[in-house]
Amino acid sequence: MRLDLDLRATGQHVIDRGDFHVLFKALRRRGYQVVGPRVRDGAIVYDALDSVDDLPQGWTDEQDAGHYRLKRREDPALFGYVVGPHSWKKFLFPPHLRLWRARRNGDDPGFEVQPEPLPDTKYAFLGVRSCELHALFVQDRVFLGEKHADPVYKALRERAFLVAVNCTQAGGTCFCVSMRTGPKAQGGFDLALTEVLDGERHYFVVEVGSERGREVLQDVPHREASPQEVAQAEERVKQAEGQMGRTLDTRGIKELLYRNLEHPRWDEVAQRCLSCANCTMVCPTCFCSTVEDVTDLKGETAERVRRWDSCFSLEFSYLHGGSLRRSVKSRYRQWMTHKLATWIDQFGTSGCVGCGRCITWCPVGIDITEELRAIRESDGLTRGGGEEA
Ligand code: SF4
Ligand code: SF4
Repeated sequence: MRLDLDLRATGQHVIDRGDFHVLFKALRRRGYQVVGPRVRDGAIVYDALDSVDDLPQGWTDEQDAGHYRLKRREDPALFGYVVGPHSWKKFLFPPHLRLWRARRNGDDPGFEVQPEPLPDTKYAFLGVRSCELHALFVQDRVFLGEKHADPVYKALRERAFLVAVNCTQAGGTCFCVSMRTGPKAQGGFDLALTEVLDGERHYFVVEVGSERGREVLQDVPHREASPQEVAQAEERVKQAEGQMGRTLDTRGIKELLYRNLEHPRWDEVAQRCLSCANCTMVCPTCFCSTVEDVTDLKGETAERVRRWDSCFSLEFSYLHGGSLRRSVKSRYRQWMTHKLATWIDQFGTSGCVGCGRCITWCPVGIDITEELRAIRESDGLTRGGGEEA
C-alpha cells in the first residue's frame, strides 16, 4: 500500500527562519546565557550572543593545512561554516580559573583561605557540531570520572543546554566520517537543527533530544516537518558526508602506533614542528592544565590559578632534575600517540574526533592524517639508534 507522504508524521519539526529569533528569547527566559558562533578578528569564534543578528549570517570558512579564511557566501545561511579555532571546552574547562584565594589577617602570621564558589552560569551552546558533541563526551570521561570529578566542569556541564547543528557542508580539514563522529548528531543534545535553504525558503528541521529541549521548543513557533522537508535536510547532511577534506584510516591504529615508536617519521615531523602548542589549544578534547601560585608584592594575598597547559611545552614533563620529553620529536610523538592510541587504553575511546582544527591552525601545516598515513605506508621501519628519545 502506498502511503501519502504528506500525511505521514515525521516526529521532526520545522522552525522558519523568520521565527528563529524566538529561540533566543525562550532560552533567555529560562536563565540561559546563549553562546555561539560570531565573526571576530577574521574568524568564526564562540562567544556570548545577544540576538540572532550576532550569528555569522552569509559567512563561510575556507580551511586547509595552516590555512583559514573567511569568505562571503552567496546565501544568508546562519550556520554555513564549519568549525573555527574555539571549541566549547573554553566554557566548561576555562583557560584560566582561580581555585582559591588566601588573605593575611592583620598581624596574624597565618592566612585565611577562601575557596572559590562554584559557577552558577547556565550556558546554552548554540551551534554544536556532531564532532563537538563527541568531544564533549570525551571530556566528560576525563572530568566526570566517579572518583575525581572536576567540580567546576560538573557544575557547568550539568546545566548546559545543547543546541546541535548538523553539518551541511564539510571543511577542507574535516574527517569526522573516518572517526565516526559526524556529520549528523546522533544524541546527547537537547535540540538538533538542520538548516535548509531551498530557493526562497529558509528553515530549520528540528529534532528533540530531551525533555528540556521539548519544553524550549514549545515556546518557539514551529510545526510538524513534512517528509519532503526531512528529506531535504537529510540530503544536505549526506552531501557534507561526501565532502570530507581528509580521511584517516583507523584500522588497528593503536597497535600500528605502538609498534612504530621508533619510526623515522617522528624525526621528520620534528624538523618542522615549532612546539608552539597551537594544536593542543584548539583541540576540543585536550585537557592538560597546570597550577600556579601567585602572591601580591606586599605578601598580603595569594591565589592559586589553574591554566591550560600543553604536552608541547618543555616544562610540562618536568620532574625533579629535568624534563622527561626534552626533544620536539618526543613531544610530538607523545601528543599524537596519546590522541590516537594511548587514549583508547586510558578512556576507552579515541582522543581525536576528526574536527581538523589541529591541521588548520598549525602554523606550519602539520597534518595528523598525513603523519599517520606516512607511518602506515612504511609500517615497521625503524631508525638507527643512539639518538635522544
Ligand atoms: S587531534 Fe586534531 S582533528 Fe583530532 S580532535 Fe584534536 S584538533 Fe580535532
Ligand atoms: S604540530 Fe604544529 S601546531 Fe602543533 S606544536 Fe607543532 S607546529 Fe605547533
